[in-house]
Amino acid sequence: MRIFFFILLFSLTTNCFSQQLETVDFIRVEALIRPNYSEKKVSANATYSFKILQKCDSIFLDAINIKLLNTYSEDKIEIHSNKNKVWLVSNFKANKTYSVSFSYEAFPKRALYFTNNQIWTQGQGKYTSNWLPSLDDMNDKIEFDLSILASVDMTVITNGRLNAITKLDSLKNWNFDMEKPMSSYLVAFAIGDFKKNTVTSASGVPIELYYRPQDSLKFEPTYRYTKKIFNFLEAEIGIPFPWQNYKQVPVHDFLYAGMENTTATFFSEAFVVDSIGFSDRNYVNVNAHELAHQWFGNLVTETEGTHHWLHEGFATYYAHLAEKEIFGDDYYYWKMFQSAEQLRALSNEGKGEVLVNSKASSLTFYEKGAWALYILNEIVGEEVFKKAVKNYLEKHQFKNVSTDDFITEVEKVYGRELTDFKKDWLYQSAFKAEQAYQSLIKSPFINEYFKISVLRGTSLTLKIDELERALVFPNDFIGQEVVYQLEGAPLLLSAPLYKKAFLSNNLYVRQAIALSLVKVPEELKFEYETLLRDESYVTQEAAMGNLWVSFPEDKTKYLDLMDGVEGFQDKNIRQFWLFLALLTENYKPEKRVDFINEIKQYSSSNFGHSVREISFEYTGYLNMWDDETLLNLVNASQHHYWRFQKSSREILKRLLEDENYREQLILLRKDLDTTSDNFLERMLNE
Ligand SMILES: [Zn+2]
Repeated sequence: MRIFFFILLFSLTTNCFSQQLETVDFIRVEALIRPNYSEKKVSANATYSFKILQKCDSIFLDAINIKLLNTYSEDKIEIHSNKNKVWLVSNFKANKTYSVSFSYEAFPKRALYFTNNQIWTQGQGKYTSNWLPSLDDMNDKIEFDLSILASVDMTVITNGRLNAITKLDSLKNWNFDMEKPMSSYLVAFAIGDFKKNTVTSASGVPIELYYRPQDSLKFEPTYRYTKKIFNFLEAEIGIPFPWQNYKQVPVHDFLYAGMENTTATFFSEAFVVDSIGFSDRNYVNVNAHELAHQWFGNLVTETEGTHHWLHEGFATYYAHLAEKEIFGDDYYYWKMFQSAEQLRALSNEGKGEVLVNSKASSLTFYEKGAWALYILNEIVGEEVFKKAVKNYLEKHQFKNVSTDDFITEVEKVYGRELTDFKKDWLYQSAFKAEQAYQSLIKSPFINEYFKISVLRGTSLTLKIDELERALVFPNDFIGQEVVYQLEGAPLLLSAPLYKKAFLSNNLYVRQAIALSLVKVPEELKFEYETLLRDESYVTQEAAMGNLWVSFPEDKTKYLDLMDGVEGFQDKNIRQFWLFLALLTENYKPEKRVDFINEIKQYSSSNFGHSVREISFEYTGYLNMWDDETLLNLVNASQHHYWRFQKSSREILKRLLEDENYREQLILLRKDLDTTSDNFLERMLNE
């Protein structure tokens, strides 16, 4: 009974909370933030203006573990805090505007990260209220004007336009201004050693592109097509970019591919690539996706998670369109086909999800959402679709939206109800695969592709002519399909086709050979070796490994050829090379110690998680665990990026099952700080 009473009380209180929207409208936050890297702490002064909508005696800001220091209010508002709120208490009158100021400090456990000489934030899913009292609810949009204090040698990026930088002792105060309101999850800042280049959109919007000084040669490939994407989206969406400027910043050990903070997208360093890396892992899709969110998500924001596809489905859809503009129709249809295949598989397993559903997976929000828009465009026609999107954005700008708000606008312009569309695409769990394929088949490329992919079960003798024809000026994806169909076929038949595929000079067709022809036959050796020079780090890595295994007598030759190649941001080729060099008997014996030290060094916290993950993998294969690498592993097991933390913990757990390593780790406890020691103690007792 008591439990019941508590539950009742709790739900009543929550209800009151969610109704705060009707009581108060927060208008502006002006905050001076001073992050402290060594103490992992934030100190700040903040001023809040708000308008009371209904007479009441208390309102709150979300504020997680924030310690209030000084408070100030002209209107005699009492200000106090508890574990997750700052409370403002007074005899508030309707239609009156108030203001409060307070200083505080916080040691954020999430939403603000101190890593490798950078400080950056992530609001979505983590709550800005961990470092800045704000609203976890998306429905009250506020104008945030931040000033950030950072040491003189650092660069600061946050929402809005930079007003001024002023010197304050050993620090610089970076003062920014936002003109329009946004939801609190879109507030963000980054501090680091960054340089920038600024380009201007066709419409005159300044686009600031940031990079680390050591990545200056990667600047061009990383940001290739940025201006084109911006101009394309502005024209396609039909509404000018809604904010003062746009900035993009690659941050160290980021949690996601990218995050669309208003005017300041942060993205993963994994997308900082050179020209070769561009062919395999470019930033184009994420670049367009995050930019599209500046309209879909930031300008119009979901009222609640149920309508999340209004963010992710739209961003995915417009990113597909931007890629179509850049890479062409075939690439576009291929990606739509891949996404349809994934959705169909999920649906066939009986795991299809309704799109308008707060619990849906990313695949549903992103890809099914994009498909819904693609089909809707087909049903109503491009002109109606564009007009409706424009109306929807104009009508609801700087406000919150639901699925109905969007559909209503489409129905208005279309002049008819969209009953079937809503049933099939928004509220049905199964994926309408037939309808999707009927649409895809209109692409001549997809048509050709289906003609080849349908031959998968046929023996090579019966299809050899068709495959051979497909290799004359092969399309990227059809060519790859042909190569994959050669797998396991008798070499007598397949060798001439492989030769033809090599000669195609198509990067992706040749990559398919590197990835599927693992045991290299003597008669293809010459051609296969040319893969080591292809402009793809995926191809180079696979080809190096396969040649090294297939031709033991030439191991040294291959190693010499690939020495010094780094690969992607995660140093995939360099680390694989070191691994192979150590496995090659008598290869540069005088350098073995250096090789070992180099692999070990990559596991340290000076490197990004993707570098470290590969280093741990090879350290494990080579059984090179020592004090240094074990300490790095304990550190990695507490990393803020959960995937890396998880994979590191799994390795640590395995090592702890071995008596010797267990002993060694116990001895190492004396070198650990308290947090790490407590963590290791827990792991030892598990
Ligand atoms: Zn997104």
